[in-house]
Amino acid sequence: MPAETRTTCPYCGVGCGVIARVEDDGRVSVRGDPEHPANFGRLCSKGSALAETLDPAGRAHSPMLHGRPVSWDTALDAVATAFSDAIRDHGPDSVAFYLSGQLLTEDYYVANKLMKGFLGSANIDTNSRLCMASSVAGHRRAFGSDTVPGTYEDLELADLVVLVGSNMAWCHPVLYQRLAVAKAARPSMKVVVIDPRRTASSDLADLHLAIRPDGDVALFNGLLAHLAETGAIDEDFVAAHTSGFAQALMAAGRADPATIAEVTGLPAQQIRQFLALFAATEKVVTCYSQGVNQSSVGSDKVNGLINCHLATGRIGRPGMGPFSLTGQPNAMGGREVGGLANMLAAHMAIENPQDRDRVQRFWKAPAIADRPGLKAVDLFEAVADGRIKALWIMSTNPVVSMPDADRVKAAIETCPFVVVSDIEMHTDTARLAHVLLPATGWGEKNGTVTNSERRISRQRAFLPPPGEARPDWWQMADVARRMGFEDAFAYPGPHAIFAEHAALSAFENGGSRDFDIGAHADATEAEYAALTPFQWPQPAQAMPDADRRFFGDGRFFHPDRRARFVAVTAAAETRTSPAFPFVLNTGRVRDHWHTMTRTGKSARLSAHLAEPFAEIHPHDAAAYGIADADLVELESVTGRRVVVRALLTRRQAPGAVFVPMHWTDETAALGRVDTLIPGRRDPLSGQPALKHAAVSLRRHAAA
Ligand code: SF4
Repeated sequence: MPAETRTTCPYCGVGCGVIARVEDDGRVSVRGDPEHPANFGRLCSKGSALAETLDPAGRAHSPMLHGRPVSWDTALDAVATAFSDAIRDHGPDSVAFYLSGQLLTEDYYVANKLMKGFLGSANIDTNSRLCMASSVAGHRRAFGSDTVPGTYEDLELADLVVLVGSNMAWCHPVLYQRLAVAKAARPSMKVVVIDPRRTASSDLADLHLAIRPDGDVALFNGLLAHLAETGAIDEDFVAAHTSGFAQALMAAGRADPATIAEVTGLPAQQIRQFLALFAATEKVVTCYSQGVNQSSVGSDKVNGLINCHLATGRIGRPGMGPFSLTGQPNAMGGREVGGLANMLAAHMAIENPQDRDRVQRFWKAPAIADRPGLKAVDLFEAVADGRIKALWIMSTNPVVSMPDADRVKAAIETCPFVVVSDIEMHTDTARLAHVLLPATGWGEKNGTVTNSERRISRQRAFLPPPGEARPDWWQMADVARRMGFEDAFAYPGPHAIFAEHAALSAFENGGSRDFDIGAHADATEAEYAALTPFQWPQPAQAMPDADRRFFGDGRFFHPDRRARFVAVTAAAETRTSPAFPFVLNTGRVRDHWHTMTRTGKSARLSAHLAEPFAEIHPHDAAAYGIADADLVELESVTGRRVVVRALLTRRQAPGAVFVPMHWTDETAALGRVDTLIPGRRDPLSGQPALKHAAVSLRRHAAA
């Protein structure tokens, strides 16, 4: 009898429900879960090809020590000894974990507890730093907490949806489908796309603003000034629930379309159209993603657009609000448990002594990190200069995905002890491991993930793990026990971790924090097994569904319960020069995920775009003697070069080049694009500017 299992897609932050069916002969098929509130049965191309990515070729089956198979005992002893020795000889900050938005919340929780409460360091960061750290910083500045106010339903209820730096059609496809259906049903709904490129998402746009890559702050400051000059400010809301408006307005300057046009590169007429549309529409949702976050001024961009929602009181009510779209399936879950160098579990703050005391007492931990640890780029710099002696990388491939990726590769090669937990044997990073630990993958592991609208869903196992593969939480708990922390990590299974996390979220909370899932603190294994998708908060005392939209009551999480306007000013970001005259923008394509370790296994997905390419405007191509499909060479200040095929298109603005990020040394012999990106990052969030590198462009000699 075929078995069916309800689980969650492991790709983007939409977090679609999936029903996986295993036939008697072992064949697997998937379909969208009609009951899941994120997708109501829909799946995109990646989600519907999930069964094709379960190919066992290349999977890690047994622990490896220096390239030779060993027992789990030998491998975990080696890890525990190396971490203990490093801490004994060089202190707690000589060790680090680098995690992934692919991990389940239970994995993240154990990693964070072990590092911050038992090893005594906060050197734990994640590839989510590359994805949404600027949103976290912007939320915390504006709201006093890392809270996404709205829900997916708000997009369907809005009269105006603004997509800023988001190619939702390719990067959050099912949410885009929901938006497209809503717009088709209600043609009066308007969509504005703000993006330097004309992308697939622009197809839905009533107005596409092909903004310069660093023009967002100027545009939203201009909007704030326009709202003030045209009487569109909600004076009562601003007076009762916010502070800092006057300073933000002063920093915004005047709403002069000609001046905004100079900085943004947009026609003044389009600017007027956008300002008037936003001012006149009550129900506005502003969605933003990596085009905002992956910038050296990403936090200011986030606060610039949040300012406009606070000024109009358009937040926390149906059909309105700023909405950060998380890239990864569990970027949000990692934030909940403090899986970032500057956060504690359950949205508590590492800088806050009461929060540290609360977490330490709850964990009965011998130590608690008392200052933020190293964020992703700094972490690998510390590996490079020898401060980190033992590094554990889980479920991610930083040799491809980090900025200045060749330096990251060289750093890992010189680190005295590197552990990599992964499902694959041969990723660019796994090849550098002293100890390789085989992890369980999608369909084999059990736990929870949280999507962009704060909805927690189960990922469930429906296949046996290959060989001796084990879950990431199990690997870390076993190492913790070998390091002497027996009781605190004696978890019988993921449900116990989930329940502990839920109990921590309610521990001495008193309603002062946004994240509270205390209703699940006593969850039994059976209840955890049957858990249906739910949005946080879900405190122990019942609350009506209507209250799940944050800030509808005008109360925020700063101590005075007021939101903060943040005064932001436009700053030039990408410094092009005669030697490097183009702005390089990187991003995803529709059918691949990150470094293609899974989607690369599907011939169907690989057929969409078979090789990396550089989108170049035809005028630029003509000026450089480049024809369509020529090989072109890009070089940046990192001194690295990448060769890809030219794709001439007017979707691309002149003076800029787009190259997708997925291809690796194995899949594109002519270089990884992230080697071109310098390690420049937002000073507040630490998020690297992956969309803003100055590069040169020339026809490749072999073309
Ligand atoms: Fe998976 Fe995202 Fe596609 Fe949904 S939209 S099926 S979560 S990749």
